[in-house]
Amino acid sequence: MNGTRAARKLRSLLLFAAFAASAHTLRVEKFTCPNDGTQFEATMDASGTSWGRRLDLKPEGAIAAPSRVPVCPVCHLPLINGLRKEEVEKLRPLLASAEYQQDAKDHPSYFLVAAVLESLGKPPATVGYAYLQASWQCDGKPELYREALERTLPRIEQSNKPDFRFLRGELLRQLERFDEATQHFRSLMADPSFAQPPWPSLIARELKLLAAKDRMPHQAQPTRGQQPFSFAHNPIAHVTPGAAIFPERTPLLPGLDGLAFPHELDGKLGARAGRAL
Ligand SMILES: [Zn+2]
Repeated sequence: MNGTRAARKLRSLLLFAAFAASAHTLRVEKFTCPNDGTQFEATMDASGTSWGRRLDLKPEGAIAAPSRVPVCPVCHLPLINGLRKEEVEKLRPLLASAEYQQDAKDHPSYFLVAAVLESLGKPPATVGYAYLQASWQCDGKPELYREALERTLPRIEQSNKPDFRFLRGELLRQLERFDEATQHFRSLMADPSFAQPPWPSLIARELKLLAAKDRMPHQAQPTRGQQPFSFAHNPIAHVTPGAAIFPERTPLLPGLDGLAFPHELDGKLGARAGRAL
């Protein structure tokens, strides 16, 4: 009896140690705005670990999702690494617009990232993914959450990648367009591109949620046992200092590896102070 209790205690200590070693950490960094030269400090993610995803692709675990982006406190430009001088020039009309400055006041930072990417002519799915990331910043703000999803949907619909086709149904479900979502997942079920794991089980899960008219975000796989998810066994992503803007990849939705975001953006998030732009 005592032995079992001791073993259980040891197991929880080990789990705690594993958790502490991979906890999400932060640090303050200095930045210089490439638009107006404003110098400022911002809290950035230093490291984190994700052990799973929600059906809307949000990474879960000891991790910031999305990664923090430094935003100039004066002109509200999000400092995306790799922004070139001529791109900053191109962004001036956007930054000067009343709509953008209003969004900067009352919308989370990835709304600004998405607006900047769109203004730079990035592919709709890339812009849509940034709006999806904005939705992850809107916990407890249902109107903004919905706005982010509504901005995501028409943009990701322009991509044929399996992840985005799956995501389309997930967004329709969260937007309470249940019939459309059900029809969409049924058509995916009959599509050979979705015949391999993990798609059939993910689609079955969506159809079950849809049958219950459940519009809430959910984990991609049901939890097992007492742990919220098996964080000691399946670490899938580590975010290191200066991590890429889209570090979140997962074996759960393998097609995500096909996304070309980091390359399309030509760089990483979080320009360092003094970095030549
Ligand atoms: Zn600025």
